[in-house]
Amino acid sequence: MQFLSTRGQTPTLGFSDAVATGLAPDGGLYLPESLPDFSGQLARFEKLPYAELCFEFLRVFATDIPADTLRDLVAQSYTRFTDPSIAPLKPLGKNLYVLELFHGPTLAFKDFALQLLGNLYAHQCQVRRETINVLGATSGDTGAAAIHGLLGRPGTAIFILYPDGRVSPLQERQMTCTGADNVFALAVDGTFDDAQTSIKEIFGDQEFRLRHRLSAVNSINLARVLAQCVYYLYAWLKLPASERGNVEFVVPTGNFGNVLAGWMLQQMGVPIRGFRVATNQNDILYRLFTTGEYRVGNVQPSLAPSMDIQVASNFERFIYFAVGRDPARVREVMQTFRATGAYQFQNFNRDSFSASRTSDAEIASIIARVYREHGYVADPHTACGFKELSADRVSVILSTASPAKFPDTIRRTIGVEPTHPSLEALKSKPIVKHRMKAHPDVIRAFIDARAVRA
Ligand SMILES: *Cc1c(COP(=O)(O)O)cnc(C)c1O
Repeated sequence: MQFLSTRGQTPTLGFSDAVATGLAPDGGLYLPESLPDFSGQLARFEKLPYAELCFEFLRVFATDIPADTLRDLVAQSYTRFTDPSIAPLKPLGKNLYVLELFHGPTLAFKDFALQLLGNLYAHQCQVRRETINVLGATSGDTGAAAIHGLLGRPGTAIFILYPDGRVSPLQERQMTCTGADNVFALAVDGTFDDAQTSIKEIFGDQEFRLRHRLSAVNSINLARVLAQCVYYLYAWLKLPASERGNVEFVVPTGNFGNVLAGWMLQQMGVPIRGFRVATNQNDILYRLFTTGEYRVGNVQPSLAPSMDIQVASNFERFIYFAVGRDPARVREVMQTFRATGAYQFQNFNRDSFSASRTSDAEIASIIARVYREHGYVADPHTACGFKELSADRVSVILSTASPAKFPDTIRRTIGVEPTHPSLEALKSKPIVKHRMKAHPDVIRAFIDARAVRA
């Protein structure tokens, strides 16, 4: 299968090249040239364990990887999950389920995609006899998940910048206590934006980028979206047949990455009733789905920090479909948005979507209520999903993180501090971090000295 750019000004690529490229050279995002139809295969998929289902799904897209190799890569990607069903679907009450996506190595849903992406990168290095140096900035979860996707993989090194003192202590430990010698956690002075600015400058340095075969870690990689389709499919197959057609997936989101994957699966012939876009107080997506206007706002730090985003980078993929798969119109929308900070959609088709917005005060009261009513501890991101559940649908709330990652918020709301063995184990390991200025020259010098070379 070939993959095209949403902006239509760059040649199509096969799966492995599109994954290796990340952002298309014309600034667009990669999408399948045409969406396959899985409706005839759902009965066959029903009994498959998670990794087998993932393989059956991905093989339709990753046609340039031999099937046996792909099966191994996928199987390896889910061996470090601690729950035997990988993505357990837990009934909480009538018409209400939680899909727990936090049983991977960093206890957040990003592991589903980044474990796979790490294996795909390592595989590519091996077959092409190349090396890869991954560089990214993080405000927390993405960096940890990316590090755990690549740690110890031959031919790869990963450099993750984070603002010193501004990520949670547990997130910092997940990045700095790995013991792996191909992982470099760079604690930089300043804010996340300062770190991000240096990274952009380094990626703009063509010579440096090519010399070290630098690759970005970000939420727009094609492989991330496709890997995320699979847990929607898995959950849908686990529901009683009588409930499947009436299911609304409720998705705590900031970047539109997670919910986009569910929506694409629906477009591939899986009869899902709809999606709830559940934002925190950073509500660009809520406003979009209630008014049709996409307008950037200021980011306000919240109790659900991994959704503190005001520009939804994956939204461009949805725009492509929303404007009738016309790259010229995508370019026009993106240009207007970039120039003015807003775009008003006419006849915006939001049939499959509803939206909600949850303030910090509501997050706290929801955590308390869900604990009281269901005896269930929801993390602050998942809590956003419990707002305004629809009465006439079956709701499946995606639980994106373990409550143990946010012990302070949970203790303040229900008086109980959740723990997790993998986080406890980290507390006795040495922290290895590299403090430095968020200056591109300083970071370049560090990478020059440590990068993996062919
Ligand atoms: C990254 C993250 C999200 C948001 O994911 P999107 O890509 O914005 O949909 C939600 N919850 C947690 C815990 C996360 O780490």
